[in-house]
Amino acid sequence: MTAQFPFDNSYARLPARFFTRQPPVPVEAPGLVAVNRTLADRLGIALSDDPAEIARIFAGNALPEGAEPLAQVYAGHQFGGWSPQLGDGRAVLLGEVVAPDGARFDIQLKGAGQTPYSRMGDGRAWLGPVLREYIVSEAMAAMGVPTTRALAAVTTGEIVRRDGFMPGAIFTRVAASHIRVGTFQFFAARRDTEALQALCDHAIARHYPDAEGPAGLLDAVIGAQARLIADWMGLGFIHGVMNTDNMAISGETIDYGPCAFMDAYHPDTVFSSIDQFGRYAYANQPQIAVWNLAQLATSLLALIPDRDAGVAEFTAAVNGFSERFDAAWHAVLRRKLGFATAEDDDPALALDLLTRMAENGADFTRTFRALSGPDPRRARDEFIDPTALDPWLDRWHARLAAEAKDDAARIALTRAANPARIPRNHRVEQVIQAAVAGDLAPFETLMAALADPFADDPAYAAYEDPPAEGEHVIRTFCGT
Ligand code: AMP
Ligand code: MG
Repeated sequence: MTAQFPFDNSYARLPARFFTRQPPVPVEAPGLVAVNRTLADRLGIALSDDPAEIARIFAGNALPEGAEPLAQVYAGHQFGGWSPQLGDGRAVLLGEVVAPDGARFDIQLKGAGQTPYSRMGDGRAWLGPVLREYIVSEAMAAMGVPTTRALAAVTTGEIVRRDGFMPGAIFTRVAASHIRVGTFQFFAARRDTEALQALCDHAIARHYPDAEGPAGLLDAVIGAQARLIADWMGLGFIHGVMNTDNMAISGETIDYGPCAFMDAYHPDTVFSSIDQFGRYAYANQPQIAVWNLAQLATSLLALIPDRDAGVAEFTAAVNGFSERFDAAWHAVLRRKLGFATAEDDDPALALDLLTRMAENGADFTRTFRALSGPDPRRARDEFIDPTALDPWLDRWHARLAAEAKDDAARIALTRAANPARIPRNHRVEQVIQAAVAGDLAPFETLMAALADPFADDPAYAAYEDPPAEGEHVIRTFCGT
């Protein structure tokens, strides 16, 4: 049997200036690393049982019937600096599949070779970032965070030159779409109002069918991003490159590069090697989202006939982000702390905990997970000075008692909000090092450990551990 993809390629039907038709560049020797059959089933993609055939498809060497490969064009602000011309420089959209339930998904090969938008790059990817994106995007999905997904990873049998010579690889990404804030910026910067209108209509039809016009789209994206960033913050996740070209209109997390989950909590945490000034530090993420959404608002303004009224309306919409983010963030914190109701003092109580955690090097994931157990006092073990948590524990118990819920309900609520296991940096690094040496077993074990992150599982207890002495990852790097 050959692979069957239920393609219906709506982006390819947009005006020609939205993209360049571009087949993936075949690779030397495709080798299957991983295929996500659960996701393939959900998408209505039928794959054969032959790993060699699957590898050829996800390497771009064999195009499935109905694919119309293209590279999308976009622009963007990178670290605040304007780049008028970006685009899929190392990725090719094979097309869109319409799943049995009617949902539409992009299927993109990342690392598929050079395109007109490659600028200086080789258009390829290597195994490290491919595995990182595979692991982190699937873990995010398992934790209930809107995200692009991992359908497959293959090696290419070619070597790419980065810091050294690395094994080439290709990642197959599934996304609600790859429309970015930067896609709107691209056409707005060219004063191409016709294209901007077509893009706006396309994005509304695809993601927010109830939204009315550019104002409705902007409002919907602001809401989706407010919820998304609150989810990130609740897991100690740092995206690392929140450039406007890496912010999806759909509200999914996209472009996992130098992303990371914090071990010890600190609001200023930055991992990315290229984020010299901490622009994309953990606690800056909501502010950066506002900045990016202001760029989207500015781009959409060209579609509003009454400019002054548009400026007033869009400014108010962008300014409304912080209230919407706070509402989402406070809801996340209430779930993490086991509150079924909302009290005015809850955010202050949560902030007090976070401050004590920061002062005591407390592990973010382990502290909240310990608070979710039958003996929350075990969270004290995460603190350099365990007594630093005691006054807070008293306040928290008093707040919980006011709800008169039984302890089992508190445990159930908090365990569903506080994962036991996250893809810790040192584990991801170990997986990559082993894989480069030809051993995929650590990758497979880590994927299994993260499949159900909210369940206690003694078999994977070691994956709850913070990095040991010498295992700390200080810096993470881009996929390029
Ligand atoms: P990213 O870091 O993935 O957000 O990419 C930023 C820009 O650089 C986009 O236009 C990419 O297409 C381009 N780019 C990144 N890596 C490569 C590469 N290896 N080859 C060609 N273009 C690349
Ligand atoms: Mg990008």
